[in-house]
Amino acid sequence: MTHTDCLFCKIATGAIPTTRLYENDHILAFPDLNPQAPTHILIIPKDHLNSLAEATSTHTEVFGHLLSAVTEVARQQHLDGGYRTVINTGPDGGQTVGHLHLHLLGGRAMHWPPG
Ligand code: AMP
Ligand code: ZN
Repeated sequence: MTHTDCLFCKIATGAIPTTRLYENDHILAFPDLNPQAPTHILIIPKDHLNSLAEATSTHTEVFGHLLSAVTEVARQQHLDGGYRTVINTGPDGGQTVGHLHLHLLGGRAMHWPPG
């Protein structure tokens, strides 16, 4: 299901153009507009879901596709030294776009703990 007023739904359907780095029936990966690392890619389910906080047992399968896509994209991008995956959830989590997305960050050493 797509939401007509959702930015990432519009990217998923192609209504807003992006560089489609990887996709399958369930998932799309595209570059973050404001990269925080040499490689910063967003990976989203094509079906709308606000955030992890709204997930139900019906989402189990798509979450599998999401994580499998991380492996594919990281290999495609040659992130052989490792990478960071982040899912921000809700206001306290720093989520600013209300369509679930996973950040894949790489190409430099990451710090811990995150801010
Ligand atoms: P979050 O703060 O976890 O909700 O992350 C939202 C991310 O979406 C930020 O890293 C933004 O830079 C990114 N972003 C916002 N608009 C776009 C866009 N049109 N295309 C690609 N990335 C975007
Ligand atoms: Zn959406």
